[in-house]
Amino acid sequence: MKTRAAVMFQPGRLETRELELEEPAAGEVVVRMHAVGVCGTDLHSYKGEWDRPTPIVLGHEGAGIVEAAGASVETLREGDRVVLSWAPACGECGSCRRGRPAACGPLAAAIGRGTLLGGRTGISLAGETVYRGTATGALAERVVVDAGAAMPLGEAVPFEQAALLGCAALTGVGAVLNAARPQPGFSALVLGAGGVGQFVVQAARIAGATAVLAVDPVEARRAQALSLGATHACAPDDVREAVRELDPDGVDYAFDAVGAAATTRIALRWTRSGGTAVVVGLPAAGEKLELDPFEFSNREKTLTGTIYGSEDPAVALPRLLELVGSGELELAGLVGPSFRLEDADAAFRASLAGEPGRVLVIP
Ligand SMILES: [Zn+2]
Ligand SMILES: [Zn+2]
Repeated sequence: MKTRAAVMFQPGRLETRELELEEPAAGEVVVRMHAVGVCGTDLHSYKGEWDRPTPIVLGHEGAGIVEAAGASVETLREGDRVVLSWAPACGECGSCRRGRPAACGPLAAAIGRGTLLGGRTGISLAGETVYRGTATGALAERVVVDAGAAMPLGEAVPFEQAALLGCAALTGVGAVLNAARPQPGFSALVLGAGGVGQFVVQAARIAGATAVLAVDPVEARRAQALSLGATHACAPDDVREAVRELDPDGVDYAFDAVGAAATTRIALRWTRSGGTAVVVGLPAAGEKLELDPFEFSNREKTLTGTIYGSEDPAVALPRLLELVGSGELELAGLVGPSFRLEDADAAFRASLAGEPGRVLVIP
């Protein structure tokens, strides 16, 4: 089987190529991709901040239609609309048994190797292995994935919006509802109002926040956060003043949707004594965090983190779809500009430039 895909031969450039795609093995499905979001994780690889094997097909946040199913697939049929999960559970390690497939050991190893969970990639170019970003490689016309990584979407949500559910929404909403679990009436600081940050803002509103301060250098992203439930917004240079105006003691919860050491320090700094800072975004490889121990011993703060919504995505997705259906979770307004597969490189550059809304590639 052939598929066209956006291939990264070296960091900083994507090129369209026709790849050879293995037929689905037992338990796997072929998904014809209809929309793929550009995630911060893809940008780390694109910028060369993470060591990944090349050539590689990035992309792990997408939606499409099941085109064919391998033997023994009972949960999906040809024609089913699905959202991809980048964390199919091995089902056997401690993390998987605790309902945290995103923390699965074998999955982390597969992501580092650039393969699927089972160890192969199933795609090649002129006989040479092509690797898969985030154990997925969705920036392609079609992908072959484990049936467990293709989550039923139903009919209600258009593909362009559904793509966002696959990573940004699961991550941002879960950071609030599952990792932080705040009581209504709390205040929140959200650092970074990109794809994930906008879902953190919305989830804070859904969870009953009385004040949400969104921080981003891009004015259009701040405006978008204000329209989605943030009560205040400011540029990074103005955080000190903005938090003090909100509450001189600091916020109850601070969410670092950027994930750089510098932003994590800011999140912890402006969390009130006894409050909680949550690292949501992913740092560049090798980043180190310097901490003031008094933040914990004297100020009793908690610093924690979350990956992929701190829940099994297959459990979380139906709840997100309910929130979308009831109008509580906005998707349409978060869809940014879309690019053809041939223009995937331009899509990545638009995302890096701080385009408000999720940048999409339509394969
Ligand atoms: Zn992602
Ligand atoms: Zn596992």
